[in-house]
Amino acid sequence: MRVVLMGPPGAGKGTQAKRLAEKFRMAHLSSGDIFRAEKAGGSALGAKLAEYMSAGKLVPDEIVVDVMAKAIRECSAGGGLLLDGFPRTVPQAQALDKQLAASRTPLDAVVVITADDEQIVRRITGRRSCPKCGRIYHTEFMPPRENNVCDDDKATLDQRADDKEDVVRQRLEAYYRQTEPVIGYYRQSNGEHVVEVDGNRAPEEVTASLIEAVSRLAGA
Ligand SMILES: [Zn+2]
Repeated sequence: MRVVLMGPPGAGKGTQAKRLAEKFRMAHLSSGDIFRAEKAGGSALGAKLAEYMSAGKLVPDEIVVDVMAKAIRECSAGGGLLLDGFPRTVPQAQALDKQLAASRTPLDAVVVITADDEQIVRRITGRRSCPKCGRIYHTEFMPPRENNVCDDDKATLDQRADDKEDVVRQRLEAYYRQTEPVIGYYRQSNGEHVVEVDGNRAPEEVTASLIEAVSRLAGA
């Protein structure tokens, strides 16, 4: 079974991907994890990746496709595949289709977790963590007893730079500009395999809907 999982940043995609991969015994190919591993491995491709990533630049489609194609080849020996964070642009989706057609292993499902922008912003910008013990808080949903101070060790809580509102809004904007067209592409080429799941709910409910959708689409 081969599944693409999509959704805006902050929709809980990473957590859901892990659960789905486990449930259906698929290899979980997270582009973020694969890029980090490729960089650390010191290959020529990894060195190219590092160049773009350390400069904070967008990695060009050809390099993304090369890295992901290699990861797919290495793990698709008959097993299932869950792609998370790839494809992120239409040319990437076209390259993936070509590769899967060549190995006669087309996609079974494209699952999109949808979420309301304002809810995403609330969820992400409220995250805080303790620099001393690593405990995670949320200003609204899981606040510490004392404002902005860790319950366990009284350290002042941190907010990651990535979790600040303007950064979150930029990432959302990039998602709508680059990645939403990928959903349109799949609707056109493979419409009966595309399904949307409402991510504005408790994580367990979202997981249940995802499992139901993938079972139905993949005939599992
Ligand atoms: Zn702490």
